[in-house]
Amino acid sequence: MACKKDHSDLSDIMSNLPYDQGGVGRHKCAACAYKKGFDAGYSLKEELDINEVLNGLEESQAASQRHKSPHAAYALGYYDGVCAKTNSK
Ligand SMILES: [Zn+2]
Repeated sequence: MACKKDHSDLSDIMSNLPYDQGGVGRHKCAACAYKKGFDAGYSLKEELDINEVLNGLEESQAASQRHKSPHAAYALGYYDGVCAKTNSK
């Protein structure tokens, strides 16, 4: 199933992500990976098993996040989540 969520708010972030050249998760939705990472970083959750997270994602959309690295997206989301948390204090 391809992801049907509206990720237009993330298109700038997605366009700056590196392409995933055939790695695990190449066809997973990088925008969803970013959001998962953001939530984990913001709530300072114990880091989940990244492969488990990526396995649970929907397939990528034919948009700016197509073939973007979901690993990079998750890491960037985590970073942004931690920063957002810090800035909100
Ligand atoms: Zn998605």
